[in-house]
Amino acid sequence: MPETKQFKAESKRLLDMMINSIYTHKEIFLRELISNASDAIDKLYFRSLTDDTVGMKLSDFEIRIIPDKTTRTLTITDNGIGMTEEELESNLGIIANSGSLKFKSENAGKDDVDIIGQFGVGFYSAFMVAKEVEVRSKAFGADKAYVWKSAGTDGYTVEECDKENAGTEIILKLKDNTDDDKYDEYTDQWTLKDLVRKYSDYIRFPIKMNVEDRKRKPDAKEDDYSDAAYETVIEEQTLNSMVPIWRKNKNELKAEDYTEFYRDKFRDYSEPLLYIHSKTEGAVTYDSLLFIPSRAPYDYYSKDYEKGIRLYSNGVMIMDKCKELIPDHFSFVKGLVDSADLSLNISREMLQHDSQLAAIAKSIEKKIKSELEKLLKNDREKYEQFWKAFGMQLKFGVYSDFGEHKETLQDLLLFTSSAEGHKLTTLEEYVSRMKDDQKSIYYVCGETPEKIDLLPQTELVREKGYEILYLTDNVDEFAVKMMIQYKEKPFQSISDGNFDFGTEEEKEQAKKISEENKDLFDFIGKALEGKIKTAKVSEKLKTHPVCLSSEGAISLEMEKVLKQNPDGKDVKSEKVLEINPNHQIFTTLKDLYATDKDKLKDYADILYDQALLIEGMPIEDPVGFSNKICSLMTDKK
Ligand code: ADP
Repeated sequence: MPETKQFKAESKRLLDMMINSIYTHKEIFLRELISNASDAIDKLYFRSLTDDTVGMKLSDFEIRIIPDKTTRTLTITDNGIGMTEEELESNLGIIANSGSLKFKSENAGKDDVDIIGQFGVGFYSAFMVAKEVEVRSKAFGADKAYVWKSAGTDGYTVEECDKENAGTEIILKLKDNTDDDKYDEYTDQWTLKDLVRKYSDYIRFPIKMNVEDRKRKPDAKEDDYSDAAYETVIEEQTLNSMVPIWRKNKNELKAEDYTEFYRDKFRDYSEPLLYIHSKTEGAVTYDSLLFIPSRAPYDYYSKDYEKGIRLYSNGVMIMDKCKELIPDHFSFVKGLVDSADLSLNISREMLQHDSQLAAIAKSIEKKIKSELEKLLKNDREKYEQFWKAFGMQLKFGVYSDFGEHKETLQDLLLFTSSAEGHKLTTLEEYVSRMKDDQKSIYYVCGETPEKIDLLPQTELVREKGYEILYLTDNVDEFAVKMMIQYKEKPFQSISDGNFDFGTEEEKEQAKKISEENKDLFDFIGKALEGKIKTAKVSEKLKTHPVCLSSEGAISLEMEKVLKQNPDGKDVKSEKVLEINPNHQIFTTLKDLYATDKDKLKDYADILYDQALLIEGMPIEDPVGFSNKICSLMTDKK
């Protein structure tokens, strides 16, 4: 008896989930196993192109499905690369697709439907339909073959076995039927045929099965339709059409075909938001099939996410995730490229310098951009769904590489705006609505549109009928600053100390008040030395007493964002305390300047802290602030 080994804890959990699965699409196990078989053949075929010892031609490779009603087993074989003893252990004993598990632990307690749907689960899905699984495999080039067996969570065994040729044979002992699930159906040739056609039609290698057919006997009398005139013959059939989907004609394909292919290859149960299937001829010739997922993968905005497009050379897969094919700002795109112009022996190191590949990458980027623009124009709702999932990435794209891609991306951006209902707007739409006298694109930063509405500095601007872009993501202002302008309209923060606003008359008035109260403002500036750069008359406040603005390259918002980084602790914006000259408080300040300068100092402190709070910034001395307010509240004078 071979030793029984234990699954790794995580694998065990996943396995347990499969065994007790109530998932209604258990049939997908077949797609998963066929897909693994096809990958294994891909590997050996690829090798055969450069290694004569493989000794096989393309037409020798095949996948086989063998149903057996009497033993209630289903066997799937391939003559691909196979697995060594160690590979059997490490590939099947430890679950590779850790994404599934991460998802599972984050969603502990929910049923399994989501996880199976969202990630696909590869080999372990066999346990949704089988009570026992046997994997007999011989690695290419090895002398010995090994069999891996498991009846579920109790563990598995690996021992030597007989197997002549390289490849893998997976034998499923089907579960007993229940009221809900008739596992017998997986030995039914019609069911199996349907499943292959539905999920695995495009697999490049033939999926063969012996099929029973009722045929007329050759010597049957012409008018005899009784059973005696028929015989049962067994014929080998290839169940799949074998044409890779991307080589097919677009008009032969339905949306479902693309969806199925996408789900299978890219392990995402949800429908893709968009697929782009095209043949490109010219400087470089290639077929491509690209997908934009309808939601961001769970790890998309983390460093674990690996971008890349599958690369085929004339139908032979040479790389799973070719990152050179896709720019970072479109890293959410999944799909594949097949080109006869590429050398099969291309290595990872050579890729960066390959001019064909660079040309394909350029052309793909253009394609994605134009499809997104089309979507934005023709299906706004869907585009906004896309934006929700991946808009952040586009904004990072505008900002990164010193703004190199801003021209490419600027018309794909959406911003929340002060317009009714905080609608999303493109820059083009914003500009088209700009008032005649408006020279710049106004924006303001804040946490949420609702909070921004309450910011004192937005009140008057909005009331005068100007639209403001509301920047609510950390990256937003960095992106906007990188763009500098759009269609010759500069971006202008209304939190900027030099925000140019108001009529000539209003400006004149503000200047006058400034001059008359120069000493007062200087005094406040001095009282808050080290905290603010200056105090000044505000031109943009209406009903509120104070607000903060900033001068120079670093805005208040950037200070907030950069402070979150360990090396950004010392970043400081140059703050300006703006005071509303039409507010009651201004009169009070003037009085105090004449009568009680100590108190004026306290007032200046309080106003500054209030302005910080309004901006959502921490105040330096909350206790001091609180004490000052309390003493004001209890001041009977
Ligand atoms: P994934 O396919 O996502 O890697 P699986 O659980 O389906 O996850 O398979 C784990 C690994 O086992 C595969 O990556 C592959 O290396 C190996 N494997 C599975 N099936 C076969 C097969 N038929 N032939 C060779 N290797 C296989």
